[in-house]
Amino acid sequence: MEKEIKKDTNQKPFLASETKKNYKHAPLYRSISNENYSKISYKNILKKFEVMGIQKDDPRLRYFFENMKDKKLDEKVSDESFNDILENQSKLFQKVLKGNLAVPDFTSFSNEIKDIYKKTRTNNQGKVADYIPQLKRVDPGMYGISVCTIDGQRYSIGDTNEYFCVQSTCKPINYCIALDDLGEDFVHKHVGHEPSGKGFNELTLNDRGLPHNPMINSGAIMTSSMLKPNLNIADRFDYVLNMWKKLSGSHRIGFNNSVYLSEKQTADRNFALSYFMRENNAFPENTNLLEVLEFYFQCCSIEITTDAMSIVAGTLANGGVCPTTGIKVFHPETVKNCLSLMYSCGMYDFSGEFAFRIGLPAKSGVSGAVLLVIPNVMGIAIWSPKLDSLGNSVKGLHFCEELIKKYSLHNYDTLIISQQSKKRPSISPLSKRK
Ligand code: GLU
Repeated sequence: MEKEIKKDTNQKPFLASETKKNYKHAPLYRSISNENYSKISYKNILKKFEVMGIQKDDPRLRYFFENMKDKKLDEKVSDESFNDILENQSKLFQKVLKGNLAVPDFTSFSNEIKDIYKKTRTNNQGKVADYIPQLKRVDPGMYGISVCTIDGQRYSIGDTNEYFCVQSTCKPINYCIALDDLGEDFVHKHVGHEPSGKGFNELTLNDRGLPHNPMINSGAIMTSSMLKPNLNIADRFDYVLNMWKKLSGSHRIGFNNSVYLSEKQTADRNFALSYFMRENNAFPENTNLLEVLEFYFQCCSIEITTDAMSIVAGTLANGGVCPTTGIKVFHPETVKNCLSLMYSCGMYDFSGEFAFRIGLPAKSGVSGAVLLVIPNVMGIAIWSPKLDSLGNSVKGLHFCEELIKKYSLHNYDTLIISQQSKKRPSISPLSKRK
């Protein structure tokens, strides 16, 4: 018979044979099982994940589900299995089991988001973009909000599995890809980083003959010209699509061919901007202008859901590392540059107002998408097609205003005592807990 080596009233005795194996995660196993040994069942672990906002489709849970394939939900997780599971995703499991994720009280936070959703859903102002029929036909009542924290805690409410075109939200992504591939010096030889003070498709360049920044059409056409120019057009598109896939934790990313075709047919201004830039020698050498324009229209016609887009925003909030896969997609310096420009130029002619009132980096698109980033905390994707006169989603802006009323998230809230008493969803606003 095995010799019992320890026994106390609160803890199930464990046996010498168990300690001999010396499982690395035995202390955590014991600390959780201390109060009630039977607590560590598959069901209870799953419940913990659910409460913390870790979704069942999270790639980090794959091994856990594999492990429990032949097990019953109520079955106790043996310390060997526990160790096995933790070996695979120890950071995530430790954080979840200790309740130490970016937003510790995720249930309350999700409830607050739900309340804001309900309140803003009734705001029916605005008008769907109609410059191409394909956008005009979208159901104007659609509204979805998804959240993804830097630890991959996710919450979605509304029409969050409907696909919509990314439109101008492709601009920050293309800019990041260009920066990561070619470096800041090269990229900014061809595009500035100053708000233009003019409309997003205004026929204007800065005093160096370059587009003002990558968040307006001319600048986005310019950054598109830099993405893998030596590949053929199909491979260039795959390259960008694959980047969206990585940013979204491997979600399915779509493409709307009819939007692409009609973008192409109604693109006089984008053609004019491109010829104007070419006249000013703004493009990198050997740029094939017509090919670049097609490529840019294709990038705008990429389709996504808010569920997936919130992970893209979460990746930016997390300095370029995808929260659900841990894959480093962009360098932190790249993301820093991108967020700086989203902050100053991301919301069309409302960018200054948005920075003033909301104090967060964001990018919107004419499809009604808003990509909102709360650095080191979370990313949020909002989609609602009705736009205001400046081209921003009405419900999207309303949501941001309500969020800022409830939570101290404006970049400079920390300076004001009365604002400090507002809630913060995260444990630590400034330090990234890894
Ligand atoms: N495809 C649009 C254009 O280039 C993008 C519009 C937008 O979302 O700002 O005109």
